[in-house]
Amino acid sequence: MNIKDLDLSVLSHFVDYDGHETIRRIEDAETGLLAFIGVHNGNLGPALGGCRMFAYDSEEDAIRDVLRLSRGMTYKNALAGLPLGGGKSVIIGDPRKLKTEALISAVGRAVESLGGRYITAEDSGTNEHDMITMAKETSYVVGLPSAADSVGGDPSPVTAYGVFKGLKACVARRYGSDSVKGLKVAVQGLGAVGYALCQYLHGEGAILTVTDVREESLSRARSEMPGLTVVAPDDIFAVEANVFAPCALGAQINDQTVPQLKVDIVAGAANNQLATPAHGHQLADKGILYAPDYVINAGGVICVAYEYCQRIGKNPFSHDITRANMMAHVDKIGTTLETIFNIADARQITTAQAADERAEAIFRAPKKAVAQG
Ligand code: NAD
Repeated sequence: MNIKDLDLSVLSHFVDYDGHETIRRIEDAETGLLAFIGVHNGNLGPALGGCRMFAYDSEEDAIRDVLRLSRGMTYKNALAGLPLGGGKSVIIGDPRKLKTEALISAVGRAVESLGGRYITAEDSGTNEHDMITMAKETSYVVGLPSAADSVGGDPSPVTAYGVFKGLKACVARRYGSDSVKGLKVAVQGLGAVGYALCQYLHGEGAILTVTDVREESLSRARSEMPGLTVVAPDDIFAVEANVFAPCALGAQINDQTVPQLKVDIVAGAANNQLATPAHGHQLADKGILYAPDYVINAGGVICVAYEYCQRIGKNPFSHDITRANMMAHVDKIGTTLETIFNIADARQITTAQAADERAEAIFRAPKKAVAQG
């Protein structure tokens, strides 16, 4: 296996290069592996972020993604109150065609080569089984199976819980009460997170309009959540509602969709919801309250962070590492959003800008105990 750190001075032409600490290139002729591991910033602790496998068109595209995603994890982990930095890994290749046990094992060895500066987890194109494979090669992996009442395991239900709590914080900000009873919520994507979010909302009496490209998810939702309305994927943006919850793809807040939105709040699970920062300004101009994506969807990373701390036997929190305490930590997503909304109002900046500034103030500050959970 050929492992080398890229010369950071030649990465400055990438717009997403932001003083990253390490970009490691991994090539393994035996398994066909070509991957990059990015550590953006380790001020707060080891860099935690998932391992994505995707059919990138070029090495340049993969580097661009690892730069962008690892940086994003620094911001997410900082605002989630975790003693962790930001990192990410990307494997070049279609997971359905190129993924083998041997290739994933090689990724595990590459993660191990960083000696704990980077901790990996599932992301799109990788799954729990892949994490089990990697765990045979490295201890720096999370998202492994665990008992239902312990910390760890599939992070998606915890992400959904955090999005629900964050959405309620937005509702409280906008309407003075956090009750969603009778509120109209349009949800894009009934996957692992979106479906569970709908169950929380339906359970509290919200009126749901949903869409997905998979008919089986829609028919399950129709039978389990009576009263819900289904619309075609392209029609979800124009639904008149209190809240739009994007829970499918990135960049759904864009030039085509912003003019269609007839909601007061955008609060959902998807990563990278704003196509560009300008779309954050456009939402604000329309009077729409936007919950910054990496703040509201941090439940999953909080979940795997607790799993990691429990496994290595180090507790940076001011409480025991239990599932109840982990969920209480996720509850604080609502408080974090309130703080961000206050900063945005006071400084007349967008909520996305306020989140970035607040995160930077945390991870760029001199090293100190940051666990707030
Ligand atoms: P998922 O793959 O389980 O669900 C995505 C759903 O969106 C699927 O049901 C899919 O059919 C649907 N979809 C795809 N294209 C669509 C379209 N054009 N219109 C409508 N529906 C469409 O993914 P997930 O784990 O539920 O994650 C949802 C989003 O939240 C993703 O953007 C993910 O990156 C983000 N996220 C997830 C987690 C987590 O813990 N799973 C954590 C943080 C962020």
